[in-house]
Amino acid sequence: MKTIEQFNKYVMQSYGRYDLVLDKGEEVTSVDEDGKSYIDFGSGIGVNSLGYCNDEWVNAVCSQAKKLQHTSNYYYTKVQADFAKALCETTGYTNMFFGNSGAEANECAIKIARKYSFDKYGKGRHNIITLKNSFHGRTLATISATGQDVFHNYFFPFVEGFVNVEANNIADLREKLDDSVCAVMFEYIQGEGGVIKLEQEFVDEIFKLCGEKDVLTIADEVQTGVGRTGKFLCGEHFGHKADLTTLAKGLAGGIPIGVCLSGDKCAKVLTPGTHASTFGGNPIVCAGGMAVLNTVNSKGFLDDVVKKGEYFREKLKAIPEVVSLSGEGLMIGIELKSKDAHDVAAKALEKGLLILTAKEKVRLLPPLTVSYEEIDAGIEILAEILS
Ligand SMILES: *Cc1c(COP(=O)(O)O)cnc(C)c1O
Repeated sequence: MKTIEQFNKYVMQSYGRYDLVLDKGEEVTSVDEDGKSYIDFGSGIGVNSLGYCNDEWVNAVCSQAKKLQHTSNYYYTKVQADFAKALCETTGYTNMFFGNSGAEANECAIKIARKYSFDKYGKGRHNIITLKNSFHGRTLATISATGQDVFHNYFFPFVEGFVNVEANNIADLREKLDDSVCAVMFEYIQGEGGVIKLEQEFVDEIFKLCGEKDVLTIADEVQTGVGRTGKFLCGEHFGHKADLTTLAKGLAGGIPIGVCLSGDKCAKVLTPGTHASTFGGNPIVCAGGMAVLNTVNSKGFLDDVVKKGEYFREKLKAIPEVVSLSGEGLMIGIELKSKDAHDVAAKALEKGLLILTAKEKVRLLPPLTVSYEEIDAGIEILAEILS
């Protein structure tokens, strides 16, 4: 309790936190200050993609910290060049901008979209379509982009130029995609919005209309990217590649990163002085990201993510309280019959299991390296709570 009291005295109260003080972790297990263990099916909201303190990742991060921890972006580092190359080769993108979070990655995409349009068509074509129930971050521009009214409070005035379309409503999309629009931004699977996957037809229509009108597509893969859904990018499931894709959360295995990937079309939009980040592309972070890429790109790794996702789903389906499952791979939404997801998460914590919620659902984002034994152990606890 001492830590919690001290924490609450000195840290702003902007989160509803659980009474849990984590001290250390190994693989999928974290340990609190009193030595109690927890199976972590949240992985810090999809961030610890290789689990806690993965050997290869720790070695990469520590050796880089001992060599060069930071330099300004006025200079070059090989580790940043190597990571950028590997990430482009993995995703098929042309180049990228480095930031430190999902919101920053999305801010960059928003700026690129507006400048692309401004450079080519001049003023007035600045609107960006985002989807209702989306989530794009907490900075002023990204909460303005977020299509949920609960976020549009207190902080007036919000950033102009975001138009919301109902997810999967093609007529609404057609109507709003007029000459004022420079981009359509979306999550293939709405994460915070409740682990809801877009329909193939709707995604096809976004790409078709945007292609016809030279409107950019921006895929926010901050949560769905980096192997989470069993493909490196979730867009691969849909057979589409957006003009811009943003990644963050799991990309560097637990240290702050946000990347905006660009195809050929927008690769030269940002020019010296138009965008920057002091920490962006930090060498330690890039070393961590390289360890994640090496692992996720290793033979059979993503097939295993798919198999483990299926294994999770089979076991979860057998629980009578589970009404339906959503998501893809190791991004799992669980709709419950009558129990409250937040109560379930609180009870799970008491019993040594960390899980997430998304709207009224329970949400699981386990480390991609989770083992079958760990899945069994975690689901046993969950099943007990749900019985
Ligand atoms: C988490 C998330 C963000 C915001 O990322 P931060 O790192 O918290 O800024 C943006 N978009 C999606 C889809 C997310 O899941």
